[in-house]
Amino acid sequence: MNTTYIPESAMAIAAHPDDIEYSCAGTLARWAKAGARISLVLCTSGDVGIADPGMTRARATEIREAEARAAAEIIGASEIIFLREPDGMLVATLELRKKLVREIRRFRPEVVVTGDPTIVWAGKDYINHPDHRAAALAALDATFPAAGQPNLFEELADEGLTAHKPRKVYVTVWEAGEVFVAIDETIQNKVDALRAHASQMTNGDPEPMIREWAAATAAGKEMGYAEAFRVVTLEDDDTWAKLHAKPDETL
Ligand SMILES: [Zn+2]
Repeated sequence: MNTTYIPESAMAIAAHPDDIEYSCAGTLARWAKAGARISLVLCTSGDVGIADPGMTRARATEIREAEARAAAEIIGASEIIFLREPDGMLVATLELRKKLVREIRRFRPEVVVTGDPTIVWAGKDYINHPDHRAAALAALDATFPAAGQPNLFEELADEGLTAHKPRKVYVTVWEAGEVFVAIDETIQNKVDALRAHASQMTNGDPEPMIREWAAATAAGKEMGYAEAFRVVTLEDDDTWAKLHAKPDETL
């Protein structure tokens, strides 16, 4: 299914700087251009992701957060949040779930975008990073049911945060997506956002690969470039409209 749905707001949750750019930056940029508020939440700052001799984790954190901020600007995100969990050791603990519930209850996104925690194998030359799986699992568990349950993590009410159930979850997939978002108008933003992660571009410019992947995803779907998702609708259209109607709207 091709979709032209644009949410009012979206929060993307990922493990590392550059994960969002690879998986869903074209979609987020498209939504941002249409006026959506976009929040990016990075569980780690990718602090073991620079292998240069003499590189420290503290210095790598600085470099990668600066790159992530530049990329967020290119995507059109209104904020980027760094949870600063240790890179390479991310675990989907209850503590991490609570941190993500806090962000969801604060930003109150219509859509949460995250990865697929069940992906382990990807082709013959890669095993999905354990941090990717942990971030995706924690994000899904925070989104549903936790964020919407007033009596779970109720202490967050002390911070003025109340329960929030997002309308939809967009899960980024690597193969066989069910919902396709055309990113013809934002493929260049996706490429440029990836280029902002200069410390990670050790294999050369990402543009040819990104265009090749996005074109392959779009093949046969009346679009030039696409990103693919599995979509879960937690709140149906009528319920969402009733719960989130603006005071001056009549239903
Ligand atoms: Zn990653």
